[in-house]
Amino acid sequence: MNSSSLPAASPHDVAWHQLPAAEVLARLRAAEEGLSAKEAAARFGEAGPNELKEKRRGGPLRILLRQFRSLIIWILIGAGVVSGMMGDWVDAMAILVIIVINATIAFYQEYHAERSIAALRRMTAPRARVRRGGGVISIAASSVVSGDILVLEAGDLVAADARLLRSISLKCVESALTGEAEAVAKRSDTMETGDVPLGDRFNLLFMGTSVVAGTCEAVVTGTAMNTELGRIAELINEAGNDGESTPLQDKLNALGRMLGWAALAVVALLFGLGLLRGTGALELFMSSVSLAVAAMPEGLPAVVTVALALGVRRIAGRRALVRRLSAVETLGSTSVICTDKTGTLTCGEMTARRLFTGGHRYEVTGEGYGPAGEIQFEGRAAGAEHAPSLREFAAALLGCNNAGVVAEKGVWKVTGDPTEGAMLVAGIKAGGSPEQMERDMPRHHEIPFDSDRKRASVIRRLPEGKLRVFTNGAPGSVLENCSHHNTAAGIIPLTPEAREKILEEAALMAAQALRVLASATVEIQDADPGDFPAESIERGLVFVGLIGMRDPPRPEAKAAIVKCRAAGIRVVMITGDHARTAEAIAMELGIAQGGDVLTGAELEKLQESELRLRVRDISVYARVTAGHKLRIVRALKTTDAVVAMTGDGVNDAPAIKGADIGIAMGKTGTEVTKQAADMILTDDNFATIVAAVEEGRGIFNNIRKTLQYLLAGNTAELLLMTVCVLMGLPLPLLPIHLLWINLVTDGLPALCLAADPIDPDVMRERPRKRNGMITDRNFLRTMAVTATLTAATSFAVYAYMLQQGSVEAARTYAFTVLVFAELFRAFGARSESKPVWRISLFSNPSLLIVVVASLALQIWSQHHEMPGGFLKTVPVPWADSLALLALGSLPLLCLEIMKVARRARGADGKSAEAASSRAAISVGEK
Ligand code: ADP
Ligand code: MG
Repeated sequence: MNSSSLPAASPHDVAWHQLPAAEVLARLRAAEEGLSAKEAAARFGEAGPNELKEKRRGGPLRILLRQFRSLIIWILIGAGVVSGMMGDWVDAMAILVIIVINATIAFYQEYHAERSIAALRRMTAPRARVRRGGGVISIAASSVVSGDILVLEAGDLVAADARLLRSISLKCVESALTGEAEAVAKRSDTMETGDVPLGDRFNLLFMGTSVVAGTCEAVVTGTAMNTELGRIAELINEAGNDGESTPLQDKLNALGRMLGWAALAVVALLFGLGLLRGTGALELFMSSVSLAVAAMPEGLPAVVTVALALGVRRIAGRRALVRRLSAVETLGSTSVICTDKTGTLTCGEMTARRLFTGGHRYEVTGEGYGPAGEIQFEGRAAGAEHAPSLREFAAALLGCNNAGVVAEKGVWKVTGDPTEGAMLVAGIKAGGSPEQMERDMPRHHEIPFDSDRKRASVIRRLPEGKLRVFTNGAPGSVLENCSHHNTAAGIIPLTPEAREKILEEAALMAAQALRVLASATVEIQDADPGDFPAESIERGLVFVGLIGMRDPPRPEAKAAIVKCRAAGIRVVMITGDHARTAEAIAMELGIAQGGDVLTGAELEKLQESELRLRVRDISVYARVTAGHKLRIVRALKTTDAVVAMTGDGVNDAPAIKGADIGIAMGKTGTEVTKQAADMILTDDNFATIVAAVEEGRGIFNNIRKTLQYLLAGNTAELLLMTVCVLMGLPLPLLPIHLLWINLVTDGLPALCLAADPIDPDVMRERPRKRNGMITDRNFLRTMAVTATLTAATSFAVYAYMLQQGSVEAARTYAFTVLVFAELFRAFGARSESKPVWRISLFSNPSLLIVVVASLALQIWSQHHEMPGGFLKTVPVPWADSLALLALGSLPLLCLEIMKVARRARGADGKSAEAASSRAAISVGEK
């Protein structure tokens, strides 16, 4: 490759940190305004995507080859070869056909699964903002090229190695590279000394690290493997085999191995016994091989992968992107959902309803973000005497505001933060004008909102070298930093009583479910043009007023919470908002009955052990910071709960990582949060979490029933064969029969079961236990009963037919009954509790088609030469075909009757319980 033509040969050759920014730009043939789209495309063509090289595993050829990695396939091929050598061409061909059918189906399924996972990975891949073609655009991080200008802010991932051009209060976490968890400060100055460790190169940014505070622009010096991360990528590849196999897959692999050995032992035993009884060695060999194939649950992990991948697709259809297969499993066992309030439980569309300024309360009228509406005082439009203080408040509301409102087809919409949108509209209604503000006091600097400080500030330039600070935020947080307040009598010092009075006013608004913010302002001297640390700027403020805004609960959230209650899932609201606001909304939504609110400040004082006790019944946490979220997750996990936790900010990343299911907001979430999460909500909606849990449960059930179906079938075959060998009867099933049952008439329905639609009643059951085994007592019992019933029916037919004389006919009949029984049972396997007649046959059309086709094929083979020759069956009279169908449905019938009986018992138990608890209550009331 002609690497000398690349603008940045290799970042390791150049000491970027020692070059002045202008020199860096020149060497990279880049400019502060960014590359042109054409130039970027050319560079991309030359350098390729900005991705670390990984071991590829998803190619179609690879998947195809993987099908031949299993021992079973080779045993089968061996058996086919042996049959061929013995001149048994029919058997050899049959085995070959079966291998091909089986491998094709498995390949097709796995290829689809792999593709949908890859598509999902692309959807959730990190993004980067760059300057290109004169504007700032968002592109996939993999499209970044050297010379690109990265535009970064808190919460962004650094997409490539880069040299800072300018920065404000920038802090990065570089633990991915240096292992150092502490954030490091960065600035754009050129460094004098050359030979400093990576972590100390304060003017460089590295791929894979993240920005936790401040903003910056930086020019990309290296991408892909030409980065510091790329240098150690080999190590990372080895360490982080991201989601190769999920815990469930591991468990099933282990189970499969165990069952495999058990089956081999039984097969070996039968082989020995057969030899002793004088059965021909070749016949025994073929039967043993086939039995081993039949008994080994080789397909289990594949079925699980298919079911999980299908689940991922289904969940995506319900607006949640799952980033790891294992998350699908965990989702289903979620027992506590910790959720944000604003935007998740509520609409996140805010309208100001109340103002408090100059000691007076005002109402704000008008709907939504539109300009219609006015400020009212005591039921009438506020008169001229209120104008000065309202104008002052308007300035404060508009001064610290990044939102805009635009009319889109007659509907007013906010661009930017909805909270700020509501403040903007209220400011305009109170007589302010954003344009005029921009003219009179141009924006100079900004300290963005963060949910730990709970306030935001904008500094604007006044004439004569002065600046004015505007701060908006949570009342407590703002008032802490106020020394004066603006009253009818002018600016006077803020006494503790006055402060109390204002906080009471805020609490009053909050109790009406309003989100309350305070505004303050102060003039300062224009001192140093560089950084404005929040600690020294947001101080000595003059309080101006309070604004109360309404953010209605999402209508679908309430229904979702009812669903959670029925499903035994606890919903916990965690919010940065005021305790009273949180409580009011929680009561409106039915999360809490009121009273049990814990604030961040109270939580701070609790010992770990106390917190563990309290988390069991606290449903609302208010005024919390990201650090508290992590403590709450940890405490909940000690109570054996499976915890889902939502978050959007960078600071939430640890809690999201710590939770069993970390959920990031798709709209408001930062890049860092998304990459830390297991799942991303594309609509930020609480109901979506519940939908995903529902899918998770359904998928788990599907895996369980598929497993049940397959294992019961295998056991039945093994049982039938064993009993016959023990009784000295000829083998009831020929190798071709075993293979046919196992790979076609069992295998295909199993795949359809894995894709069964979800039972709407899954959300009426309790959540699964953490670490609960999929193969619990119930599972094993049902499996044993099913296998016995199936084997017994088939054995009865076999024994009866043997007495009639012909072994061939007996085999055909036993084989047919077994196939029929398995096919019918596939319908029963769809639910562990509901009898077949309660589930529509047509809700899983592919299962219906597979079963009907298999039945038809089976019956066809009884009446025609060709398929009969293939399956080694003898002709069967039509009357017998019908009789066999009836006999084949017997196991299903028994199982369904047992289900009904169990349900009746269960229902009795429940109503008795309910009655006794009612009795207890009435006793208590006396
Ligand atoms: P939530 O959990 O409701 O999303 P946040 O952590 O976002 O809470 O906000 C906490 C508090 O910070 C809010 O109650 C509000 O008082 C204040 N706040 C929220 N957004 C802004 C903003 N854009 N500017 C200033 N203050 C804000
Ligand atoms: Mg918020």
